[in-house]
Amino acid sequence: MTATAAASGGAVRNLTRGQWRLLLGGTALGLLGVVCTLAQPVLLADLIRAAGDHRPVVGVVVALVVLFLLDAALSAAQGCLIGRAGENIVRDARVLLSGKVLRADRAHLDTRRQGDLHTRLVADTSLMKIALTQSLAQIVLNGLIVVGAVVMMAFTDIWLLLIAVGCLAVAGTGSVWLARRLRRAALANREDIGDFGADLQRVLTALTTVKAANAEGREQSRLAESADRARVSGNRVTVLNALFTPALNVGLQASLAAVMGIGMARVVSGSISLADFSAFAMYLFYLVSPLVLVFLSIGTYLQGRAAVQRVDELDTLPQEDEHPSGDADAAAGRSGAPADEPSVRPAPQGGHPAVEFREVSFGYGDRPVLEGVSFTVPAHGLTAVVGASGAGKTTVFQLIERFYRPGGGAILLAGRDIAHLPTAEVRGRVGYVQQDNAAMRGTLRENIVYAAPDATEAEIAEAVELAGLTDVVAELPDGLETLLGDQGTGLSGGQRQRLCVARALLQKPDVMLLDEATAHLDSDTEAVLRDSLRGIAERCAVVAIAHRISTVAEADRIVVLDEGRVRAVGTHTELLRDDALYRRLAATQFADGPLGGRPA
Ligand code: ADP
Ligand code: MG
Repeated sequence: MTATAAASGGAVRNLTRGQWRLLLGGTALGLLGVVCTLAQPVLLADLIRAAGDHRPVVGVVVALVVLFLLDAALSAAQGCLIGRAGENIVRDARVLLSGKVLRADRAHLDTRRQGDLHTRLVADTSLMKIALTQSLAQIVLNGLIVVGAVVMMAFTDIWLLLIAVGCLAVAGTGSVWLARRLRRAALANREDIGDFGADLQRVLTALTTVKAANAEGREQSRLAESADRARVSGNRVTVLNALFTPALNVGLQASLAAVMGIGMARVVSGSISLADFSAFAMYLFYLVSPLVLVFLSIGTYLQGRAAVQRVDELDTLPQEDEHPSGDADAAAGRSGAPADEPSVRPAPQGGHPAVEFREVSFGYGDRPVLEGVSFTVPAHGLTAVVGASGAGKTTVFQLIERFYRPGGGAILLAGRDIAHLPTAEVRGRVGYVQQDNAAMRGTLRENIVYAAPDATEAEIAEAVELAGLTDVVAELPDGLETLLGDQGTGLSGGQRQRLCVARALLQKPDVMLLDEATAHLDSDTEAVLRDSLRGIAERCAVVAIAHRISTVAEADRIVVLDEGRVRAVGTHTELLRDDALYRRLAATQFADGPLGGRPA
């Protein structure tokens, strides 16, 4: 239906256009239904004339019954087609927009509330569907019945029509005024519902913190506040909606009364025949319920428009730069085979460091975090990154993974600037074990093969072994098929860390990033993992943010970060000799250092 497409905007408009076949088919059936509806008063007037002239009425009655049945069938078929188009549009919107959210720029996503995104994708898409299909179809089809009835009435008695239209216009103007307010109120209400969703999500993702702080009551009060804000704005919508119908009805009933009174007077004075007036009155009655439906649908439609606006806004989420400009083959690689397919990936070119930072500067928002950071990571061996908490170590890793783009300088992966590589290739080459290592709901196996879904049993077993998980798996009742809860509950922190190491290993990366990956491990387990890493470091570059002297001392190269700058690079012995900060870190921060200490 072209009216549907023209009335919406942006992404939703395109999705609606995609359903043009169903919408057009539904509209066509609906139009036939309109013709059937408009023909009924003609036949009814015929019936009255036939009865008046003492002619047989059976034929007219049969025609009327057929018309009624046809009208009902067409209306049902129209509803099915339009409804189906609506479901397709919602599905397409959810698929499109979940992709937009998944690939959104991290720096931007950091500023958004997850719960609000959730509400837009789940609830607003449903509201939008009703507006774009049912409501709009009602408006168009019933609108046509109204127009058709008015035209037929004009042929019957123009003066009566003018009186009727005058009365209806007064009722209509009031409704339009209410409708404007309704739309604004509906948008505000959608925002409030989104806020409640966001507040709920915030609590659910931090449930442990909430409970440990005995904060359930406080959080419930907060939720009660936002639930109440949604109640207040929802009430406004309800009140406006409730005013809408009676206000309209009063206007319509007044119009009917006026027309019936004046009309009967004209019949008595002989200006119009009774049959003609009957047809006129019937059109008037036939017009009332479509007219009410048009106005009611306008109300629903306007509420839905508020949802469309919120859904369309999601389509404009800034996206991670997947197709760097001027890099045609990079773009081709992204849309072709999966980028983490080792066989199609060119081997790192010899001679290049695995990772190179060249004068990289970066800040989250306006706050500078890294300034002029330069260092290299050899293609093999263990590189340690050390520094006080907040020095920018994790940020360095996030930049290598291209979660954020540096504000200045360049980051090279095997000699190529990652700004010009497809994101999927960068992340395929880099294995990343996060600081707050995250597992997901699903089996242990699903979690382990997450970055390499095609891994063989032998590869999985090897990764499990190298990550020091073999004993853990053996002790679990269901082994690799053990089901983990949200965020990997069911494993200890140290076990989750090893799970993440196994996952990164399976990816067969060129560079393995470990962000305090041994923080939660006891010394025995850590020693097992350290041995594994030695072996892994012969195959690829391992970069470890480390706080244990045992890991750091073994590193081939140590990068010391201090307040976002590289302070020194060297081996453990060199740095102990030359660098005061490193000596201090070694003495106070490294967990198994001379004086003990805490993880950074
Ligand atoms: P480290 O890993 O060395 O402890 P990080 O790299 O995590 O340090 O953080 C460096 C600085 O950047 C810190 O001051 C931290 O507060 C800030 N920071 C880290 N992540 C973000 C973020 N997503 N948004 C804003 N600031 C951040
Ligand atoms: Mg960190």
